[in-house]
Parts: sequence; C-alpha cells; structure tokens
Amino acid sequence: MLPRFWRKIRYRYNLIGTECTNCGKKFYPPRNLCPECRRKSRIAEVELGETGTVVSFTVIHDSSESYKLQKPYVVALIKLDSGPSVISQIVCNPDDIEIGTRVRAIFRKYGEDGEEGIIYYGTKFEPVI
Ligand SMILES: [Zn+2]
Repeated sequence: MLPRFWRKIRYRYNLIGTECTNCGKKFYPPRNLCPECRRKSRIAEVELGETGTVVSFTVIHDSSESYKLQKPYVVALIKLDSGPSVISQIVCNPDDIEIGTRVRAIFRKYGEDGEEGIIYYGTKFEPVI
C-alpha cells in the first residue's frame, strides 16, 4: 500500500489539521501554507481534538443522490475547542440542535469499494449528551 494512501486516511480518521508554528494559527482541513505568514509559514501537523460548539447550522431538505437515505440532514459551522472552524454534517434529529450545542467528531463510513474492499471514512459530528 502506498504511504500517500495511508496519509490521506489518517487525516480523515483522526481530525488532524496543521498549525503554523510561526503565528499559532491552526487549519482544518490541513493547509501547507499559512495565509498570514506566507513565505515565513512553518507548518506542522497538529491533533485538533474532537469537541466543539455549533456556531450556526442549516437543515437541508433536498438532497443529492448520495444523501437520499438520510434527509433531512443538518450541516453546521462548528468552532472546534482547539481553534479552527469546520463545516460538517451533524448526525442528529434536526430538532435536537441549536446554536451553542456541544458536538464531537465521529467517523462514519462513506462508501465501500467492492472489488478491493476499501472502506472510506469521513468525519461527521454528533451532539454531546
Ligand atoms: Zn502563520
């Protein structure tokens, strides 16, 4: 298996972002250039933890093909406790969410490659009860 493949999986599975050690800004999804420091950027991997707070959200009723079994669903802007903001689906009843709801990252199967048996995971969030 190619190292690059595993690197990708690791990002999806562990909520790892990057940090500019020059100015302390954290990024998710990971970036390899800090927009503030540009050429002076010093980028390192950082674990972002799994908890955050809902800043705003939308309940989406119409849906694309791949989401057709899950509607309506909630997409929220989440401010992670570690700093960065993330837009993600929240797995919950739309009535159970409001601004300020505490959420944590979970990992859901996105799909499976039948021939090679590769399973793709992605990060979603759920309310912390
Ligand atoms: Zn920076």
